[in-house]
Amino acid sequence: MQSNKTFYTLQGAIDSMKDGEHVLACDTQLSGRVGKKFMTCPYIKTEKGLIHLKRLIKLHGPHFYEILLPDRASRIFVDIETENGVYENVKRGVETFVKMLQMWVESQGSIVENFPFHILDSSNEKKCSFHVVGGPCLKNPYHVGALIRRLTLFIYSARYEENQHNFDFESLFDKDGNYIIDEQIYTHNRQFRLCNMCKLSPNPRYLKGCTTPESLVQLLDSDFHLTCLEIDDVEPCSTSKKAMDIFTRADGSWVRVLSVGGSMKGIKATLPDSLIKIRIWLEVWMGHGKITGTTFDIRNGYYRFTTSCKKCQIAKRFHKSNHTYIILNPWQRLAHQKCFDENCSRSEFLIPVPDDLWLTWSQYMNKNIQITTVKASC
Ligand SMILES: [Zn+2]
Repeated sequence: MQSNKTFYTLQGAIDSMKDGEHVLACDTQLSGRVGKKFMTCPYIKTEKGLIHLKRLIKLHGPHFYEILLPDRASRIFVDIETENGVYENVKRGVETFVKMLQMWVESQGSIVENFPFHILDSSNEKKCSFHVVGGPCLKNPYHVGALIRRLTLFIYSARYEENQHNFDFESLFDKDGNYIIDEQIYTHNRQFRLCNMCKLSPNPRYLKGCTTPESLVQLLDSDFHLTCLEIDDVEPCSTSKKAMDIFTRADGSWVRVLSVGGSMKGIKATLPDSLIKIRIWLEVWMGHGKITGTTFDIRNGYYRFTTSCKKCQIAKRFHKSNHTYIILNPWQRLAHQKCFDENCSRSEFLIPVPDDLWLTWSQYMNKNIQITTVKASC
């Protein structure tokens, strides 16, 4: 007999879950606010599971979410939402993104027709809101996150470099230029709403587009899965960080500027095109020697130029043997001259880089976006 037990902590439900079961969350009215309760359910793609789910809906209402457990194979799931978009445009953005997902699936040697994607819609007059779920299984929900970040970086670089491509990437940005794909959902035990369910609310918006079993992310009978590492080939983990906060474009490829655990040191790099004018200007400004190398400090996100220059603005003289070096911090838009001389080593000289030299870099960075809301469920 299947347990009908209701838990008020997620861990309670996870601890009582048997093999071949899901953990589901359901909206519930707590004193003055909507909270969550949790229960287990047999695999919803089986008859037994579906009957059980229907009983749960009768008892608790159509407010169920699948809990995406970290160690389970997961299909691709995407949340797309904006309150500041034109519905037709946002919908085109969703379709563009699905096309990109299908191309990725094909590039992994899988046949797209075998793994349909469902576009689920819960939009109303105020809000454009879509889920996409489908495709083949990936190793776990974090691999799905890595895939979304890869596609996101592709979109940004295509936008930045204005290459020829076949996608309507502008449809993935709202009226304010904000990216409409929610990159922050690829976290531990994420709740993802099942199809034909609505949040518990006075104005419910039902998620529509396929059957409830078709909208499952985690397939419990799948013995096949693909993998997708981060763009720098690191194993993905739970993160709500956005791709553009983790990686930056340098030397024609993407380098990590934010370590997700572990230490990282400077790596050899050449400058992004948008900073090359500044380097040329700096070499003239130095007034002696030239720039001999570039490294990128991953931890701090700045470039370090080594030089053959002995003219030091800290000591206000030429050193006999020590060379100076320059720290270029594109995030702060600052350049400092530093020096290996013992007496200079704790000081730095702020280099007066003309503002207009930052223009190209700033234009690129302004395409970056900030969405600060972190949602508990979607
Ligand atoms: Zn010096």
